Amino acid sequence: MTAGRRGGGRRAFLTLGGLTLLSACAAEPPEPGPVPGTGSPSAAPAPPPPSSPPPVAIPVQRKPRYVVPASAAHQGSKVVALTLDDGPDPAYTPQVLAILRKHKVTATFFMIGQSAAAHPDVVRSVADAGHTVGTHSWSHKNLTELPAAKVRTEIGRAVDTVTATTGRRPTLFRAPYGSWSPTVFKECAAMGQTSIAWNVDPRDWDDASAHHISAEVLDQVGNRSIVLNHDGGGDRSPTVQALRHYVPVLIDSGYRFVGV
Ligand SMILES: [Zn+2]
Repeated sequence: MTAGRRGGGRRAFLTLGGLTLLSACAAEPPEPGPVPGTGSPSAAPAPPPPSSPPPVAIPVQRKPRYVVPASAAHQGSKVVALTLDDGPDPAYTPQVLAILRKHKVTATFFMIGQSAAAHPDVVRSVADAGHTVGTHSWSHKNLTELPAAKVRTEIGRAVDTVTATTGRRPTLFRAPYGSWSPTVFKECAAMGQTSIAWNVDPRDWDDASAHHISAEVLDQVGNRSIVLNHDGGGDRSPTVQALRHYVPVLIDSGYRFVGV
């Protein structure tokens, strides 16, 4: 199913049900955070015991949502959803939050569970600012290469960590590398998670310059677009710089920033 490079590769081409997807996540996983329960005095709090309220199962998806759903609230206006993957990052996430705050817009952050466990204060700052926190697996593995039980653990551990950190159970999930499978969809549904993709990818994960990222977003974006950016997993200075430029341009062009 997966015909791509791993390891040092920067991208992977994925084929799913006849649909070829280009992965848009940094191939290099972020620095692993402290492992909860290892006894380090500075270790982040351990994920909660599996005592979270049972999730409400949702219908199994056959493909991820890749545009903002049409709704009465969105009629007659241009809407766009900004999403940020691979955080939280103590250096870049606060910079992104400052830009969003300045322009009074909200975004959706798909956080890696082990990074969330390592930086709970950053997770809370995102949630407290009114943004939506989704998850992006526990350790950013390609879930299509794992058995169902491990997929369940990867999703569930991240969901439980964010739940314990913010007090609110996330319901949105994005697969690492945009790599989906029937098993991933099934496990997401069992845990009450809606699978979210994107349709605007400026490839900020591929050493793109700020100018390139901004130009690509402004070129590709349309009504109900879901834009993919990254606030962790590498040097995200170009992404931060690009956001400073393209967010006000989109606002001036009449776009409203909405959830996915
Ligand atoms: Zn990612």
